[in-house]
Amino acid sequence: MTDLYTSSIEMVEVSPRDGLQNEKAAISTADKLVLIDHAIAAGSRRIEVTSFVNPRAVPQMADAEAVCAGLPMREDVTYIGLVMNQRGADRALATGRIDQLGAVAVSTDTFAMANQGQTSQGSIEAASAIIASARAAGKTGQATIGASFGCPFEGEVSEDRVEAMAVALAAAGAIEIGLADTIGVANPAHVARLVARVGAALAPLPVRVHFHNTRGTGLANVWAALGAGATIVDASIGGLGGCPFAPGAAGNVSTEDVVFMLERAGTATGLDLSRLIAANHWLAGVMDRRLPGMVAHTPAFPKILTE
Ligand code: ZN
Repeated sequence: MTDLYTSSIEMVEVSPRDGLQNEKAAISTADKLVLIDHAIAAGSRRIEVTSFVNPRAVPQMADAEAVCAGLPMREDVTYIGLVMNQRGADRALATGRIDQLGAVAVSTDTFAMANQGQTSQGSIEAASAIIASARAAGKTGQATIGASFGCPFEGEVSEDRVEAMAVALAAAGAIEIGLADTIGVANPAHVARLVARVGAALAPLPVRVHFHNTRGTGLANVWAALGAGATIVDASIGGLGGCPFAPGAAGNVSTEDVVFMLERAGTATGLDLSRLIAANHWLAGVMDRRLPGMVAHTPAFPKILTE
């Protein structure tokens, strides 16, 4: 078990991709780059900047190459591009600005078919090929298992299945395996059990977790995951997010809410809460609505956090 009171964890900022991909109104490339600047200013050192997918399927990501062309030149920041297939991997690598490819495998056939037009097994093979492409290009590859805790179409997902997928993706050369609660149905007991189990099967390869707060269990699930040995957490500024192919999917856990919880509990995140709150307020202005993250709408506590 990780000692949460003395440890530090790594956070991956996913707002430029997962956060924005489900938004109906087009967000300009310039605003996406400002969002990335906000994340870096807040201390983010790993950022999922875009996805290289069919623009007809996900119009919000149609400017992937333009986003990459505008990324700040930072040796200390790892830029992640999400890709679903070889074409996406080729596009991402061709930009010359993506440090890491993120691949997705999906736990059930029905969701894999809706999300990327292939079976679950097919998605493992595609993810493995993407990781191989990244390595061949001198980059790194990681994989996320979509619907690890429940499927929007098939319901309960077998823990044996998720563990076997994680082992297969690790064997393909992934630097870490992410467990994603794509539709926000996980509970902390399930999270603790599955993270511990997958972590034991993968050790010393790290487990990353990706939670959506669809039913309000997001922060509890983060806490449970870290207690069970996960060391990397995906989160999205403002709590934006959703999946165009998963009915009813809602936002990711908000970066600023996760940071408030963990830093107050003594777990270092490397992120600056006041800058994240400023980023939430800026992004709310762009979106012209209040964002789901909660801490940004509350008085500072303790006061020094915003002074
Ligand atoms: Zn997600």
